[in-house]
Amino acid sequence: MMTAAVLTGWKSPLVVKRVQRPECRAGEILIEVKATALDAFDVTISDGRMRDQTALPQPQDPPLILGHEFAGVVAALGAGVNQVSIGDRIAVYPLLTCGRCLPCLSGHENRCSEFRGYVGVNIDGGLAQYARVPARNAIPLSPGVTDTQGAFVPGALGTAYHAVMKRLGVLPTDTVAIVAAAGGVGIHAVQLAKRSGARVIGIDVDDARLARVAELGADHVVNARDVDVVEAVRELTGGRGADKVLDIVGTDITLLHSFTALARGGRLCVMGGAPGARLALDSIAILQKEAEIVGTLGTTRADLTEVVELLERGAVSAVLSETHPLSEAPAILARVNAHDVFSRIVLVP
Ligand SMILES: [Zn+2]
Repeated sequence: MMTAAVLTGWKSPLVVKRVQRPECRAGEILIEVKATALDAFDVTISDGRMRDQTALPQPQDPPLILGHEFAGVVAALGAGVNQVSIGDRIAVYPLLTCGRCLPCLSGHENRCSEFRGYVGVNIDGGLAQYARVPARNAIPLSPGVTDTQGAFVPGALGTAYHAVMKRLGVLPTDTVAIVAAAGGVGIHAVQLAKRSGARVIGIDVDDARLARVAELGADHVVNARDVDVVEAVRELTGGRGADKVLDIVGTDITLLHSFTALARGGRLCVMGGAPGARLALDSIAILQKEAEIVGTLGTTRADLTEVVELLERGAVSAVLSETHPLSEAPAILARVNAHDVFSRIVLVP
């Protein structure tokens, strides 16, 4: 048996209870969980809103153990597993992929043709003492990376890394604007853009959190509640606009502002999405700017391995706000839902 925080019904609070410890099947590993981070995606899942995403595999019906950002120690191996050993410290790659299609084989498993969903959505996740995942989802942690840092690798750091380094392609000469810079992904995106040599403008709506964004490396911060974001970015860039914009919100209004704030030849990377949100653009505006609009989707295993290397070198910080025992998972998820968490809270079984 083991202790887990279980979603027993859609829109229900989590229940901490004793449940059966999973047994490894062929190709799987059992992980003794050491640290799990919660984020807004956990709220989306527990509300049952993943069922509206008809293009994605449907979530596992409750009872479901949430937790898609976690790290731990390999505790048991299923038949045929030889890429990891018992006792290895790992973070968990959260996407369930086939491992056989062309995108998977070419290192773009976030675009898997037979995508099967997420750990903590489509199979039980890391809000428990133990979790069972496919062995290929293990990302080795180096000795200098803590378990808590490991919980930032799959999500807050990993998705920011994929967006900033692989999709936005930040250059040292760039001015980069990040929309929702004070969110858990945003503050890590700010750090990654800054360490790439770029000038960084952090945009969000809370002065206290924007002060933290500035501490973490943003050259300028803009409160979108107080000023016109497009005007502010133009002022900070001598009228040119930003070379790269990362929009982690993705509503009609932020997308339009993000595009309008782009410099000529600029690139907009769409990271956040809201069902039904539209970017309504004059085609001439796109061609006159020679603008590029790209999307960013999750992470790859290579991204997570590179993030572990950056943590090992001390080149990025995992921005932890608090640590709590797993038994407090229901209260912490309620706080995430109320936007009462800066960056990430980590839960420890
Ligand atoms: Zn695949």
